[in-house]
Amino acid sequence: MKNLLFILFLLVMENSVFAQFSQEPLPYAFDALEPSIDKATMEIHYGKHHKAYVDNLNKAVAGTPQEKISLLDLQKSVTAQTPAAIRNNGGGVWNHTFYFNGMAPNAGGEPKGALGEAIKASWGSFDHFKDEFKKAALGRFGSGWVWLTVVNGKLVIHSTPNQDNPLMQISEVKGTPVLSLDVWEHAYYLKYQNKRADYADAYWNVVNWKLANELYAKALK
Ligand code: MN
Repeated sequence: MKNLLFILFLLVMENSVFAQFSQEPLPYAFDALEPSIDKATMEIHYGKHHKAYVDNLNKAVAGTPQEKISLLDLQKSVTAQTPAAIRNNGGGVWNHTFYFNGMAPNAGGEPKGALGEAIKASWGSFDHFKDEFKKAALGRFGSGWVWLTVVNGKLVIHSTPNQDNPLMQISEVKGTPVLSLDVWEHAYYLKYQNKRADYADAYWNVVNWKLANELYAKALK
């Protein structure tokens, strides 16, 4: 009986997800961003990739001090000494939640409000801003992200490798992100194959300027 209980305990330990970190629901249907972002990509991106980051992060933090902090504080705590499994999966969870929320159905187009003004002031025009953003997307060798980040009150376009983000202490550019583009192949390959540039162009059809404006206002406070 004692052995049986112990075996049961081991099984529970092995399979249980303590769910310190959970996967936030997708704020729209899988096909809501069609045709810019196709349904199959969204299903796999959210249902498989994002979920795997959540599950693997929970495994990686189990029994560590990072188990007890918020996902945001976890990002801010990342240094070169942070275990790779926590840095990569923690970034994977946070980055994807940010990216998915940064897009919306019936969105896109020209940026409005204070952020739209700031983009025009920084890059001259929305078209020039888009060119620079695309340059960063195409310039990222391998997998990573492109960000529009507020650094000391100024907007900066930059890119990070793997699942790093500008909240992390190891990031070359540190600040508060307002927009992101996932440039991992899994984000676009089913629909766009090798044409990362076309995916980067389509992003502007679905970008959630409303949220970006809110994040921008908060970052300036
Ligand atoms: Mn991704």
